[in-house]
Amino acid sequence: MPSMVDLYPFTRRSFLGGIAASVTLVALHPYAARAAANQAHLRLMETTDIHVNVMPYDYYADKPNDTMGLARTASLIDSIRAEAGNSMLIDNGDFLQGNPMGDYMAYQKGMKPGDVHPVIKAMNALGYDCGTLGNHEFNYGLEFMFNTLAGAQFPFVCSNLTKGQLAADPKQDPLYFKPYHIIEKQIRDGSGATSPIKVGFIGFVPPQIMLWDAKNLDGKAQTRDILQAARAWVPQMKEDGADIVIALSHSGIDGHGESEGMENASLYLAGVEGIDAIFTGHQHLVFPGPKDFDDVPGADAVKGTLLGKPAVMAGFWGSHMGLIDLLLEKDGSSWKIVDFTCEARPIYHRDDKRKVVADTADKPEVVASIAAEHQATLDYVRTPVGKSSAPLYSYFALVADDPSVQIVSLAQTWYIEQMLKDGPHKDMPVLSAAAPFKAGGRGGADYFTDVPAGDIAIKNVADLYLYPNTIQAVAITGEQVKNWLEMSAGIFNTIAPDAKDAPLINTDFPSYNFDVIDGVTYQIDLTKPPRFDKDGKAVNPNSSRIVNLQFAGKAIDPGQTFVVATNNYRAGGGGKFPEIGADKVVFVGPDTNRDIVVRYIVDQGTINPSADGNWSLAPIPGASVVFETGPRARDYLKDFKAAKIEEAGDGADGFARFRLTL
Ligand code: MN
Ligand code: MG
Repeated sequence: MPSMVDLYPFTRRSFLGGIAASVTLVALHPYAARAAANQAHLRLMETTDIHVNVMPYDYYADKPNDTMGLARTASLIDSIRAEAGNSMLIDNGDFLQGNPMGDYMAYQKGMKPGDVHPVIKAMNALGYDCGTLGNHEFNYGLEFMFNTLAGAQFPFVCSNLTKGQLAADPKQDPLYFKPYHIIEKQIRDGSGATSPIKVGFIGFVPPQIMLWDAKNLDGKAQTRDILQAARAWVPQMKEDGADIVIALSHSGIDGHGESEGMENASLYLAGVEGIDAIFTGHQHLVFPGPKDFDDVPGADAVKGTLLGKPAVMAGFWGSHMGLIDLLLEKDGSSWKIVDFTCEARPIYHRDDKRKVVADTADKPEVVASIAAEHQATLDYVRTPVGKSSAPLYSYFALVADDPSVQIVSLAQTWYIEQMLKDGPHKDMPVLSAAAPFKAGGRGGADYFTDVPAGDIAIKNVADLYLYPNTIQAVAITGEQVKNWLEMSAGIFNTIAPDAKDAPLINTDFPSYNFDVIDGVTYQIDLTKPPRFDKDGKAVNPNSSRIVNLQFAGKAIDPGQTFVVATNNYRAGGGGKFPEIGADKVVFVGPDTNRDIVVRYIVDQGTINPSADGNWSLAPIPGASVVFETGPRARDYLKDFKAAKIEEAGDGADGFARFRLTL
């Protein structure tokens, strides 16, 4: 134990004007110093949602990234252990999938019996005591998962995943894993003497894996409600002698009431008699901490409690180490918790210019343990995984249907049709909304998607889908589809019928809100004023820029219901599209849209993302407009047939100007 001044209170994150500052000095936790002869300090450490991010490296962008990496979180572990009297380390799931290293292992290298997966190598190097499964462990199939787990030098628990039919009594369920694991640990008390404590860990996976991974789990598994499993097994853990019971809950925090089969059950799990502390995850948020859970009744986001019990959620990709510190007191032959603190300790902070500053260095043993796989992953992201028969560029994405947007829509439709095929929405047509994310604007003249025809490498996919959004789908009427498009059409200025070289684009309207909806056909009449303002308010309720809106070759039925594949941002009300919000959501997926594009390319081998021309600007005979785009657009001009475009000189700030004859 290093002898240091007790600086503990100052190692907690402090928030100044919303910017996290942290000081990561090794300092004894007060419990370690304060524990009396009959007391002991036990520190429980959590990693969660690592998603194969061992290295602080963004493989999609093919460059280092200081906000992620178990190799960084790991270097916190030594100092965190040093601060504590006694400690244990657990992982809360979603370690196996979610970055190109995971895809490389699954799609290219494979896991044979005896192979050790790099994320498991890294975890073995750190000495975990126990782990549980997240939903993403199932993404590559059960065989791959079990071959991977076999390499771990620590046990996994999961109490609500069965090999088949649920039993009438949850304790008779045919489980794949041990529901819980009790570790008898020698802990040192305040007098320096050691004595045993039995720490029980019980694991939970979101029941929704049966939907999300139906293709891997149908006929092979079933899931039980998290709270049912907890209420059945926790008393058994106490009977087996567990002094304390810790829930490893790969499930988030949702305060909207308990319901059977709920995905984010951790708040109500805290109410289960006998559970002493809860590690949460799955939502990729931070608890305790500002903003993420301020408004959840029953959650104290300052102290880190759920219904009064200690709880943490340690971010994602290794961004934080979750800590629950327990002051234990011997109560006869058993131990009980007399006090606790909770903390989510970050691996980086942002300076006053919002620039990321690393607070930890790589742990060399972890980096060394996966050096070969890191290099193999770099090679993998740089080599082709599929082919495109057309170039994928966004230079003309605001004036005509565009291949870089088309491929995202194709992938989203492909995914959502699979997800909904057996459910209550199976008979509804699936449309898909996607926007050009990289389309110049404030990003500058080089800020465009530009992937040549031919081989597509994984690193190109980041260019096709810039943000780590996740997939969602909404169910809306034909009328709402039209209003969605009317909102998108707000990116254009109103053009007079006799306009000559009028500026086309309203540069205050961000391109990521210019959703194109695939699966319907339409034209945009620029002579009409926009129906909606930027807040989705109908400022010209009788104006209709969207004309000839058709589905399946006929005028769209305003009353027909459609499913629209989109992302969590739009489905959650982002961009203030009229009537689009959480109440319309019918599917919330665990996958990033970017990952869906990767899977689509891998699945299809060769893709043909040529834009299908499902939308266009309506002709205005005799009128012309100008717009600016990246100068490399000139290279593609001669093959571009979707609109009448010609060069019109240079724009400002390195942009090129083009004239569009309507
Ligand atoms: Mn996750
Ligand atoms: Mg299209």
